[in-house]
Amino acid sequence: MQFAAFADRATELEAEPADLETVSLVADLLREAGDAELPIVARFLQGRVFPGWDGRTLDVGPRLCYEALAKAAGTNVTADDVEERLADEGEIGAVAAGLDLGGQQGLAAFGAGGGGDGPSLTEVDDALREVAAAEGAGSEDAKLATLFGLFSRVSDDEARYLARLVLGEMRLGVGEGSVRDAIGEAFDVDPELVADALQVSNDYGRVAEIARESGDDGLREVGLTVGRPVQSMLAQAGTVTGALESWEEVAAEIKFDGARVQLHHHPEGIAPPAADREPTPDDPTVRLYSRNTSEVTDALPEIREFAEERLDSPAILDGEVVAVDDDGSPLPFQEVLRRFRRKHDVAQMREEVALDLHAFDCLLDGREDSDGGDLLDDPFRERHARLTELLPEAASEVLYSDDASEVEAFEQEALEAGHEGIMLKRPDSTYTPGDRGQDWLKRKPDVETLDCVVTGAEWGEGRRANEFGTFLLAVGGDDGYETVGKVATGITDERLAELTDLLEPHVIDESGQTVEFRPEVVFEVGYEEIQQSPTYGAGYALRFPRFVEVRDDKDPEDADTVERVERLAAGADADNA
Ligand code: AMP
Repeated sequence: MQFAAFADRATELEAEPADLETVSLVADLLREAGDAELPIVARFLQGRVFPGWDGRTLDVGPRLCYEALAKAAGTNVTADDVEERLADEGEIGAVAAGLDLGGQQGLAAFGAGGGGDGPSLTEVDDALREVAAAEGAGSEDAKLATLFGLFSRVSDDEARYLARLVLGEMRLGVGEGSVRDAIGEAFDVDPELVADALQVSNDYGRVAEIARESGDDGLREVGLTVGRPVQSMLAQAGTVTGALESWEEVAAEIKFDGARVQLHHHPEGIAPPAADREPTPDDPTVRLYSRNTSEVTDALPEIREFAEERLDSPAILDGEVVAVDDDGSPLPFQEVLRRFRRKHDVAQMREEVALDLHAFDCLLDGREDSDGGDLLDDPFRERHARLTELLPEAASEVLYSDDASEVEAFEQEALEAGHEGIMLKRPDSTYTPGDRGQDWLKRKPDVETLDCVVTGAEWGEGRRANEFGTFLLAVGGDDGYETVGKVATGITDERLAELTDLLEPHVIDESGQTVEFRPEVVFEVGYEEIQQSPTYGAGYALRFPRFVEVRDDKDPEDADTVERVERLAAGADADNA
């Protein structure tokens, strides 16, 4: 297949707004492609030269592309001209198509002779792989020469799509779903199986080939491969109450504030993606990938060593790398970033910023003594149990619970230990790569806060018997203050002592554990939601209230009112409707 034929189809696709038509046009194109061309077509349609799991890129900046285009356009055009035209046209494809590249100069330079054929699809692919492979001294010149050679041979239409491909901006309006459906239509296979195979292989080219060669059965066989990262499963914002309502039980974990890492281990070594060969004993046994599947092994030597020492079977684990201080307490996310993409001075940075691995999932367990392998379709509970067997030192702690207050206490502990919050997972959910679904929820941060008057408290227990533990909150009503909940969360030990000193002078009554205050002190509190409740005087209860601050600047009369609570509750209902 000539690249020109691909460009023709691309032109049709771009002009076609309807999804159904798009799918059949793509299906035609896939059917027309020869064996070697099929994976190339499937990737080019997405503007990719390499599969998603393959960390290679062309490593061609815009400037280099403009230079290659200018050179192919002839002596009168400079890279600056190309840039200027881009400012006018707004899109590199249109600029390239308007440069009249296939002129005499270009053809002669390539020795193609007058009116010579443009490149074939495979030639374009080979040339772009060559561009990607050029590195080190002189690589810019080598890339420029190869791109110039390509651009010199193409017609206006081909130039449009070649330039876009080089800059990774294909934009044909062919989404992942269309390619999936087109593979189904072209080779008469089940699109659902195509979707599953794409998820685990992260490779449109390979899935198209398998669909053509071995149909549904072949697609069913596609599994995870150590050394080929998959997209990370993602989370949505959610609430504890919502999660418990839908799932009955939640798996709660600390939300670590770091950088996502996918850890691949194979005792026989993992060959680099670009090598396209079997592993050798010299290959590393652990490779690490970032959230968007680029390799970060060299930047994180201690994580690699940690896993190398402890794992002895093939495994793919999912987790978070966190920067920690000397005591092992988590440091802000920015600190991890100082380490994550570093190529130079890794050893020195390792001294400055220490890293910890928190693994929270297991995607593949290749132990011979288990029925291991691919775990994506297994429930979270099972995957996490295996993770804990494989790497107990780094496995996250999970609280399985159907009790909101137990989850609340877990969150309180996580916050006190300096973590960002908690994650809630459906215990029987499968692992869906790349999916921001409903099965993983990050607890929604408080959107609103309320200023409440503190009208009572309970003494703490044990070590905290001399301090207040829980504070009764109230808002202004028609006849004085009406209670809306109790807050015990979000207060450090130190703060608790201060609050006790602040409130003790205001005690007006005491019975057993419980005290009553004169309404003097105002707390700002966050909450997850407001529910109607007969328990409290206001007729509403704050769910998951959390202490934010003492509002020294406010008198009790300035605190929020029952009316505002009512409005917030109604607003939240409207949002949920
Ligand atoms: P966000 O980046 O705010 O969308 O939150 C989701 C991210 O939290 C994930 O992509 C992970 O990188 C990170 N994370 C931290 N702890 C966990 C955990 N226990 N389970 C899943 N993801 C986690």
